[in-house]
Amino acid sequence: MESREKTKESLLEGLGEGVRFNVPLAPYTSFRIGGPADFFFEALSPWGLIKAVSVSRSLGIEFFILGGGSNLLVSDAGFRGLVIKNGCTALLTNGDNPGVQSGFSLNELVDKTAELGLSGLEFLAGIPGTVGGAVYGNAGAFGKSIGDLLERAVVFNPDKGLETVDRDYFEFGYRSSKLKRNGEILISTSFRLEKKTAEEVKRNSEEIRTLRREKHPQNQGSIGCFFKNIKEKGKTIPVGRLLEQVGAKKMAVGNAAVFDRHANIIVNRGGAKASEVRELAGMLRDRVREKFGFVLEPEVVFLGEEPDAT
Ligand SMILES: Cc1cc2nc3c(=O)[nH]c(=O)nc-3n(C[C@H](O)[C@H](O)[C@H](O)COP(=O)(O)OP(=O)(O)OC[C@H]3O[C@@H](n4cnc5c(N)ncnc54)[C@H](O)[C@@H]3O)c2cc1C
Repeated sequence: MESREKTKESLLEGLGEGVRFNVPLAPYTSFRIGGPADFFFEALSPWGLIKAVSVSRSLGIEFFILGGGSNLLVSDAGFRGLVIKNGCTALLTNGDNPGVQSGFSLNELVDKTAELGLSGLEFLAGIPGTVGGAVYGNAGAFGKSIGDLLERAVVFNPDKGLETVDRDYFEFGYRSSKLKRNGEILISTSFRLEKKTAEEVKRNSEEIRTLRREKHPQNQGSIGCFFKNIKEKGKTIPVGRLLEQVGAKKMAVGNAAVFDRHANIIVNRGGAKASEVRELAGMLRDRVREKFGFVLEPEVVFLGEEPDAT
């Protein structure tokens, strides 16, 4: 690998003045936690995104695609590679199957489709982040997931290039997609939606948002449910209930605490460190394993050093 100074020069040469150095990542995450990225670039077009991936690979530095940072725990030491912030936000609303670039906000997409009287995405109302992050983790709620509605997509494979694929390609499962396993990047996608009146779709989305406001932290940093629910013999065991039974709601480490209305959510009470979150998550996992014998799997993504501590 090149020296840090040489890497800086090569990145400036390859990507232009948009490259930044030593950029704090906490403001780019909904947890408001984490150290700096050595290198940071916001890609405003798919071509910029592809270029950034190619340049980082040719320089032998690790890269990370950042969406809304709403499912992400960045380590206190930060990330020694290139963070590529996805700023590709074009939306095509012709016809009943809107096409959208992967950096588009999921929440805004829910609102735009509602305005057009297109129904299907309402259950995603209130989930922060981008379309790309949602497809990566097959985000969902109320028993439905984004993968149920995806129609076609363009993905970028750093070795093979661009490919147009359909829903089956993603092998969607509970909070999982093929993108988690093969490192491909979602560039754009379209959804299969149904025509209804705009009023009806908007009303349904607002009802969902109201429900969420009651269950999720509004003024504290968080990244949604920390652990995946347990799937056993075709049944779902909500991890929040198991955590409640081990006294999670009273637990905290430093400024990282379990949310008092949902035991599977960790909140940043202000100035929490990633190490505190990891320690708390480790304690929660140990208690559930001791009492119930289940090994909890994180739903959240870790970036930076010590990613395997939980
Ligand atoms: C208050 C709150 C409530 C939440 N509620 C829910 C919920 O009900 N259901 C749910 O499923 N989640 C929920 N979440 C978690 C989170 O919002 C979702 O997982 C969201 O879809 C993550 O999207 P993002 O853009 O923020 O991804 P990021 O956090 O930026 O990234 C997550 C992962 O996706 C990858 N990624 C991002 N974009 C792309 C791309 N274009 N191509 C390939 N990989 C990509 C990243 O590299 C990373 O590995 C909640 C979070 C919060 C803070």
